[in-house]
Amino acid sequence: MSEHFDVIVIGGGPAGYPAALRAAQNGLSVACIDGWKNTDGQYAFGGTCLNAGCIPSKALLESSELYHRAQVEFAEHGIAVSGVAMDVAKMQARKAGIVKASTQGILGLFKAAKVTALQGHGRLLSGKRVEFTAADGAVRVLTAASVVLASGSTPMPLRTAPFDCVRIVDSWGALEFTEVPKRLGVIGAGVIGLELGSVWRRLGAEVTVLEAMDAFLPMADDAVAKEALKQFKKQGLDIRLGAKVSGATAGSTGVAVSYDDATGSHAIEFDRVVVAIGRRPHTEGLFADDVGIALDARGFIVVDEHCRTGIEGVYAVGDCVRGPMLAHKGKEEGVMVADLAAGRWGHVNYGTIPSVIYTAPEMAWVGQTEAQVKASGRAYKVGSFPFLASGRARAMEAANGFVKVIAAVDDDSLLGVHIIGPMAGELIAEAVLALEYSATAEDLQRTIHAHPTLSEALHEAALAADKRAIDYPNR
Ligand code: FAD
Ligand code: NAD
Repeated sequence: MSEHFDVIVIGGGPAGYPAALRAAQNGLSVACIDGWKNTDGQYAFGGTCLNAGCIPSKALLESSELYHRAQVEFAEHGIAVSGVAMDVAKMQARKAGIVKASTQGILGLFKAAKVTALQGHGRLLSGKRVEFTAADGAVRVLTAASVVLASGSTPMPLRTAPFDCVRIVDSWGALEFTEVPKRLGVIGAGVIGLELGSVWRRLGAEVTVLEAMDAFLPMADDAVAKEALKQFKKQGLDIRLGAKVSGATAGSTGVAVSYDDATGSHAIEFDRVVVAIGRRPHTEGLFADDVGIALDARGFIVVDEHCRTGIEGVYAVGDCVRGPMLAHKGKEEGVMVADLAAGRWGHVNYGTIPSVIYTAPEMAWVGQTEAQVKASGRAYKVGSFPFLASGRARAMEAANGFVKVIAAVDDDSLLGVHIIGPMAGELIAEAVLALEYSATAEDLQRTIHAHPTLSEALHEAALAADKRAIDYPNR
């Protein structure tokens, strides 16, 4: 007889494991199958995010930022330091410890919630049966009332620069370097390219970023992208736009890269190259052909706004479906479908998903960019406040960047908030809440912000939208 669960989740990343936990909170019997294996050959829950994405990258961003600040910023505070040195092995060991604690934490949560954790491969068969293949090759067929597909994504390969996993690596490889490369090439000036490029730049690598598009960070508000490009150039990131890589050959000493741009063909040598040109949905081996799961032209599982696949009781969430490839987007979708599977109400507000880029300065935004609002034809007003005018930012030696608030002229509703500057990723939470509650610029203006805090910059930017800022001249 086959084993039956109310819910089976395939994939234990930030979309899948919250789905399993919420389903269990809803009183359902749940199994979560995950096949992630780390470089030591050990299975680990948490998917890309915990093992090779959000968490390890933020650990290295923190270490490299502290190293950089010790070198260049401490003197401003009157702190004399000498002999500052980076122990890369120790930095990597710290990161590995954080990853391990995080992934083990999921097993602890599963145990407490009585979720059955199954490590191995899951494959959806017809009739909501799931074939589970364990590490030893043993196969079991399970059945479920609801199945959640949360299989995530994998790095997009580049035909002209194929991974060799030594010198030409993906983002996971770039998180595992055991020494600082002297010359690092990054293909793709997206989120990964900028975050990981920043890590190794701060640790001393010469970093060249080759971006195929002429535009820099086209998904960000133009003002934020412009300021970011200026700041990154100041930090020594050599960002080359409109650069199309035509070949990359790895040898014993380095990688020879050729690329074309508007000025002609170029050749450049690197010690290591990171290819970070986007990620693609991972659905290989996830379901049998006769199940009827539909994929779109780019390979994403087709779902409706409630992540229903069209097969009754089968949902898909996270990076394997449309929408931004972000851990918090996947988490909300996972929670939503677990509530729907229990007959409860569930919904994701796709208009209020924040984006954060964890460089220094950080960038964060929610809602529409000014270009999007302009294209919509709606009359709008803009208020900006520079961190240069923030006492707290100056005290922190971090007075770069600004907060920009966009609001509608007709009803004063907030349409978008864009931040580049210190702790932007934390500051954006207030804007997300404001948008979630359909707040107006006046609502933010009338909200008391503690002094001196960075959050006052959001307050002042909202005031500036009506030319009523106090701490900066209104234009
Ligand atoms: P995944 O995390 O990819 O998890 C899917 C899991 O399913 C994996 O464990 C996989 O092995 C397993 N699986 C797949 N198929 C099967 C199968 N058939 N059987 C069993 N198991 C299976 N996002 C952010 O929001 N913030 C960040 O700061 C951030 N930083 C990032 C940094 C890097 C370097 C990278 C690469 C990504 C980053 N992301 C970040 C993106 C984030 O990691 C993803 O959006 C997120 O992990 C997607 O979650 P998911 O659960 O959909 O998929
Ligand atoms: P991305 O889509 O952010 O950026 C890829 C970049 O590569 C783009 O600028 C694109 O124009 C460029 N590109 C594409 N083809 C190219 C080519 N042939 N040559 C040169 N450049 C090329 O993708 P990513 O940086 O790989 O990140 C993947 C996903 O992971 C993103 O969707 C992102 O949301 C997620 N992620 C999020 C965070 C975060 O939230 N802080 C951090 C890392 C990754």
